[in-house]
Amino acid sequence: MLNHTLAQLSQELQAKKISSVELTQAYLDRITRLDPTLNCFVTVTAERALAQARQADAQRGAGRGGVLTGIPLAQKDIFCTQGVKTTCGSRMLDNFIAPYNATVVEKLDAAGMVMLGKTNMDEFAMGSSNETSYYGAVKNPWNTAKVPGGSSGGSAAAVAAGLAPAATGTDTGGSIRQPAALCGITGIKPTYGRVSRYGMIAFASSLDQGGPMTRTAADAALMLNAMAGFDERDSTSVNRAVPDYTKTLNDSLKGLRIGLPKEYFSAGLDPKVAKAIHDAIAEYQKLGAEIKEISLPNSQLAVPAYYVIAPAECSSNLARYDGVRYGYRCANPRNLEDLYKRSRGEGFGAEVKRRIMIGTYVLSAGYYDAYYIKAQRVRRLMTQDFVAAFKEVDVIMGPTAPSVAFGIGEKTDDPVTMYLSDIYTIAVNLAGLPGMSLPAGFVDNLPVGLQMIGNYFDEARMLNVAHKFQQATDWHARTPAAFK
Ligand code: GLN
Repeated sequence: MLNHTLAQLSQELQAKKISSVELTQAYLDRITRLDPTLNCFVTVTAERALAQARQADAQRGAGRGGVLTGIPLAQKDIFCTQGVKTTCGSRMLDNFIAPYNATVVEKLDAAGMVMLGKTNMDEFAMGSSNETSYYGAVKNPWNTAKVPGGSSGGSAAAVAAGLAPAATGTDTGGSIRQPAALCGITGIKPTYGRVSRYGMIAFASSLDQGGPMTRTAADAALMLNAMAGFDERDSTSVNRAVPDYTKTLNDSLKGLRIGLPKEYFSAGLDPKVAKAIHDAIAEYQKLGAEIKEISLPNSQLAVPAYYVIAPAECSSNLARYDGVRYGYRCANPRNLEDLYKRSRGEGFGAEVKRRIMIGTYVLSAGYYDAYYIKAQRVRRLMTQDFVAAFKEVDVIMGPTAPSVAFGIGEKTDDPVTMYLSDIYTIAVNLAGLPGMSLPAGFVDNLPVGLQMIGNYFDEARMLNVAHKFQQATDWHARTPAAFK
């Protein structure tokens, strides 16, 4: 049962084949057995989970259960969870017990889902391999010498290894899609503003967006139904009705126009990954889609623009960690300045410090126009490329990442090479568009992710397009041999 989809688990709970308490205990046991190998969880919340499960069973018993009632999930440790340690993968927050719940946590709790624990992640979501976490690297269940991707690596590996049937992630430049690709699961980053950021620890506020990480697109639809919606506590939340994402999953793809950006298939892309993507596109042709080559001429500016804008925003957001209010405080500070310096110096890891320094630099007088304003202009150009493309096509497809999972330690000495892991995902955040990754084959026994980019608020269509592919293929149903 532990490799079943949310849709299957929902039916099994409804048919009383299993209770939520039994299901939750089974996942907790599996976490105890396998997580020492994978390191997906920073915190396991067994008691909270079993209490939620008992409540879910009572609700279902009284005929008041919803479709997700009693189904376990894992929360990325970036979402504040009341009374539970919320670390964001950082020593800075190693002692932080959140005093309130993030909206996403509140909503999934209200839907009756059972939180198994908090998943490991790159420190403050900065990374593409989960190696920047204060709690150590997460292993990829397909090959434990490989990274799971990042920053939502703990969530992706937990779902891939069957330690949780679903998880939450956040995506600032690719952190839902790239780990989903590297671990062979399905993940969707919704349109900016679709899912509330309230209580989601900020990295780069104009880019951050939470979303579901699941085995299938149908499961992502179920979770997004529960996660999406307006929240007056998030000033960038969009007040717009949430459709039922499960309703349109089976719509026909006849006449669907798929755009393939030529820039996404150029040098830098592993030819074997390219082949898997082209095979997936051929499958879409069989399903009735029309393929069109398009151009996103400013694509090559995505990584440089992002590495000005994201550090700029992070340097401002992370100024709050000062050793005074909450989080890590150095021992025996001599004076206020010493308190600030040593608390931040000891509490943050190397990648976070690198970003704070870059961000502070590009925002400083004299450089602001040359770097920050310039990057914002580039951002507008890239957005215009997408707007033009969506006049011609309904969705855009290409690879999620330039290669399959790489080795642990392979890119840690070279930040720029690491940054290039997100070369195909970052532009989507800069434009605020929804993006998705779905399993589309294997190279060297490691999963390949197909990326789909949709128009603003077109998540329902994207989930439909992904679901039809998953009805016709079984890549998403494969599980890593060592974690059967
Ligand atoms: N890998 C990118 C970075 O390090 C994106 C991370 C993310 O989406 N949170 O910034």
